[in-house]
Amino acid sequence: MVTENLQTVRTKICEACARVGRDPSEITLIAVSKTKPNEMIAEAIAAGQVDFGENKVQEILKKKPEFPQNIRWHMIGHLQTNKVRQIIPQAALIHSVDSMHLAQAIDREAGKLGIQVPILIEVNVANEESKYGIRLDETSAFVEQAANLPNIRVEGLMTIAPFVENAEDNREIFSKLYQEYLDIQAKNIDNVHMNVLSMGMTNDYEVAVEEGATMVRVGTGIFGVRDYR
Ligand SMILES: *Cc1c(COP(=O)(O)O)cnc(C)c1O
Repeated sequence: MVTENLQTVRTKICEACARVGRDPSEITLIAVSKTKPNEMIAEAIAAGQVDFGENKVQEILKKKPEFPQNIRWHMIGHLQTNKVRQIIPQAALIHSVDSMHLAQAIDREAGKLGIQVPILIEVNVANEESKYGIRLDETSAFVEQAANLPNIRVEGLMTIAPFVENAEDNREIFSKLYQEYLDIQAKNIDNVHMNVLSMGMTNDYEVAVEEGATMVRVGTGIFGVRDYR
């Protein structure tokens, strides 16, 4: 099932690219494997999948040693500062930097380890009460401030769009974040790259690709519905 689902998602990404004249090689598919067993992850790896997303530090620490070194583990969930030290040497990219307090904690621990940690800034584009993230109108100032922290490197922006029945309802959210991404890119801030735009999940990744996503995070569409019991 996982193999077929992956093929379907990859095909849909290619079709979305074709609709807007993008090159599919610009898009990295992150298979969100939270709560899913190693057997399913192994099947995805056998089907050529390299990037996986998890929202819990403990789950990454547990799963990572079970798979080849070249597999990339993305931290996509809210990160508590007391878990920063454990996760930063293990994660390929932290998508969920949602406060200056957290950015500073990552910078401090990265300094101790002598590494530079690639991060994305999580933006709460729709200003949802229930969600973490920087407000869209504060994002540019936040990035400029984060750029002063020498042991982190801002690679781009991430958002979790609202849950909607119709993916079209999130198009404006994605296009707003893409515009912000371009605006920040144009500022050429030192120590800021702005090459990654992580947006789109199972229900709306095709729209996100059409609106400029460079990473999509797909869980249910690859591994099936999650059982949290
Ligand atoms: C769980 C999760 C996803 C994947 O959600 P699906 O709807 O299953 O594709 C993507 N991003 C984040 C941050 C998540 O927590």
